[in-house]
Amino acid sequence: MELNKCSRCGAFYTTSSNVCPNCVPKDTCDQLNLKNFLVENEMPASIEALSADTGISMKNLNRFLDNDDFNVYL
Ligand SMILES: [Zn+2]
Repeated sequence: MELNKCSRCGAFYTTSSNVCPNCVPKDTCDQLNLKNFLVENEMPASIEALSADTGISMKNLNRFLDNDDFNVYL
C-alpha cells in the first residue's frame, strides 16, 4: 500500500488521485474555474496574475498547469 501526500492539505492518503479524498471536490472545483477562466480570457502574463484573477493559489495553479489537460490553453 502506497501513501501519497495531499498537495492541498498535506494529509496522507492511499487513493490514486492527485489529492486526498477530502480535497477532491475543492480540487475539481478549482480546475473547473481555471478552465472556464482560460476559455473566456487570455492567459495572463504571469502565474501571479492568474492566481489573483481566479482566486486559486499559485501552488495549485502550478500543479494544474503541469497537467496535460491544460496544455491546450498555454
Ligand atoms: Zn487534502
